[in-house]
Amino acid sequence: MSILFKNATVIAAQDGNSVLYNTNVLIDQNKIAYVGKEDKQADRVIDASNKLIMPGFINTHTHVPMVLFRSYADDMVLFDWLSTIWPLEEKMDAEIITAGAMLAYAEMIRTGTTCFLDMYNFEEEIAQACVEVGLRGVLSRGLVGDVKDGMPKLQENIDLFNKWNGYKDGLIKVAFAPHAEYTSTKEFIAQCVKTTKELNSPMHIHISETKKEHEECIERHGKTPVQYFNDLGALDTGLLAAHCVYVTEEDMDILAQKKATVMHNPASNLKLASGFAPVQKMMEKGINISLGTDGASSNNNLDMHKEILLASIMHKGYSGDPTLLSPSQALKMATVNGAKALGYDNLGMIKEGYKADVIMIDLDKPRYYPRNNIESLIVYAGNSDDVCLTMVDGEILYENGNYNTLDIDKVNKAAQQALDKLTSKS
Ligand SMILES: [Zn+2]
Repeated sequence: MSILFKNATVIAAQDGNSVLYNTNVLIDQNKIAYVGKEDKQADRVIDASNKLIMPGFINTHTHVPMVLFRSYADDMVLFDWLSTIWPLEEKMDAEIITAGAMLAYAEMIRTGTTCFLDMYNFEEEIAQACVEVGLRGVLSRGLVGDVKDGMPKLQENIDLFNKWNGYKDGLIKVAFAPHAEYTSTKEFIAQCVKTTKELNSPMHIHISETKKEHEECIERHGKTPVQYFNDLGALDTGLLAAHCVYVTEEDMDILAQKKATVMHNPASNLKLASGFAPVQKMMEKGINISLGTDGASSNNNLDMHKEILLASIMHKGYSGDPTLLSPSQALKMATVNGAKALGYDNLGMIKEGYKADVIMIDLDKPRYYPRNNIESLIVYAGNSDDVCLTMVDGEILYENGNYNTLDIDKVNKAAQQALDKLTSKS
């Protein structure tokens, strides 16, 4: 199957000529086959005049089934919030997880996210639902505990890796995710690192999200979380470090030297009052910065458009410097930087030979006029409601109000039933 998007405005999310006008984008099977002015033959031609084509958003830190806790535990400090959520999580089963995953995927597809990095339990169910709806996912089982009680979880992650890693040329990949310093013993982390290195997979960890976490790690081990994980070898695995709000100068140098990615979660950091990650400084040190929503319980949505807006404006407000973080930088963080983090060298740009994870945005709305700077319009004035088509790996998952791979009424209903079951006393 080939599809031609004709006459589009294109944000390519690459350096140099990053916005293209009156451009044709040809999709052949699951690849972008052509980007340019020539007219091309295709099985289907979509008139994309007054529409924008751009790479789908890559949400590099989330906990998919936590959509079920949306609006359940708002306005709490992180540790109170965790202790409110944990008893419900213990009651979750495969059916509840699937209901949560499907709701999360519906929201992602609708708001233009085509790829995500997850950390949770029941990743087998999360993988199956992901394949069912056709999203691209990098999945990791949250690992907590000591060598004794953590090992079955690590084995689950290994099984997940053996079954799914590399499925359909990278539609599904598997990472390993020790949850955080404060939820595992040193010996167990060392075991996780050993396995991860053997399987040549990345590690996904919450690092220095809050001041309390950062300071208690120093009290316990005499070093910061970055230094603690570095000494255990976790940074030799292509580390995917979520948050990094409280990193020191030395931490940032280590992250840069080890080529780690920091996944910045603006909405979650603001809502939980975790603080302001030194994003500008980390960028200046050459650290790859991508964006994530975190779970929808601390956000409370999976809408990456809100993250690009917040990433662009929060650091300006906090620092008093309006020149920080341009729309173009925010868009790269949400697309190509995320692809790089997750080990995809042919994803996150509208470029020939790249994977066809593409979204289309309807520009025929008052908020996109007048046209001066298209990247600015998308980031500062745009809204994910205007996403009118979401394509992953060449398959159209959503178009003009219709989902092609899920029944939205059923998904919404199942999610409500799942929450009712979790919160019932029985
Ligand atoms: Zn998280």
